[in-house]
Amino acid sequence: MKRLDDILSGAGRILVTGHVRPDGDCVGACLAVRAYAAAAFPEAQVDVCLEPFSPTFDFLKGSGDVIAAPEGAYDLVLVLDASSFDRITESAVPAFQTAGRTFCIDHHVTNTMFAQETHVEAEASSTCEVLFGLMREDRIDAEIARCLYLGIVHDTGVFKHSNTGERTMRIAGRLISLGAVPARIIDDTFYAKTFVQNRLLGRALVRAQLFCDGAIVCSWISKEDLDREGAGSQDIEGIIDQLRVTQGTRIAVFLYELALNEWKVSLRANDTVDVAAVAAEFGGGGHVKAAGCSLSGSLNDCANTLLERLAQEV
Ligand code: 5GP
Ligand code: MN
Repeated sequence: MKRLDDILSGAGRILVTGHVRPDGDCVGACLAVRAYAAAAFPEAQVDVCLEPFSPTFDFLKGSGDVIAAPEGAYDLVLVLDASSFDRITESAVPAFQTAGRTFCIDHHVTNTMFAQETHVEAEASSTCEVLFGLMREDRIDAEIARCLYLGIVHDTGVFKHSNTGERTMRIAGRLISLGAVPARIIDDTFYAKTFVQNRLLGRALVRAQLFCDGAIVCSWISKEDLDREGAGSQDIEGIIDQLRVTQGTRIAVFLYELALNEWKVSLRANDTVDVAAVAAEFGGGGHVKAAGCSLSGSLNDCANTLLERLAQEV
């Protein structure tokens, strides 16, 4: 197994990137690696390229230096938390295709091994948990600890999803010792909701319907809903988690419309149903209990297609 120092060493220009619509794990991972590389390899130039992300992550070191589109050639492109080529930050794709080396660090069971080299730990809660294991602990300062802790908090839903293991908790404990402040990170970046985010959550909950005798709960937010609230796709995070805790349900389904008739689907399983496998059938992927895909068409057509397929699982 290669350690992070081995992966980074020898590269003059390094690009770190993640997946489209970056979440806490993705942003935390990218900024942690940037801070780590900058300290361990001061002669290297390390850029982070990501799509816009939640302003609640702005307190992390290096968030202000994230670039929208990289320029020039890179010796190494490091892709974090992205499971397939079509999930890579779009503006980073040319740099990925022309890079001297490409390396992917991830925790998705559906990783397609799209990079030249890949390190996947499918049983890890998050890419940030994987990174902790690849980093030299004596190089993890308080800034890096905050980034990694934030990523673990977001991908475990604050240590409550089934991906939270003993190792996750031990690493989180170490990160607190190294300087991460749990209350601040958990409240300010995970639970805090804007007024508009709460209104969208309310709308989705009022609309939710049960199918298959209550085994499946499904709701949606349209582009029109988002436009009316002046909201974007980052404002619907957390809705699927609230749908998932509906008592008696085995699968939660949430659709949101990115552009007219272009739907992004979030799937969550409460028991043994493998939603990653179902998502993969629709060109998506993810984890066994948390996965997603994209669908084109009317809301009715997309929802019916999904529900018919999911009905076979319950
Ligand atoms: P979410 O529902 O939070 O957007 O995504 C849940 C999980 O499924 C995440 O780990 C995410 O990476 C994965 N996922 C979501 N959408 C897609 C997709 O379109 N393709 C793939 N391969 N994975 C996805
Ligand atoms: Mn992740």
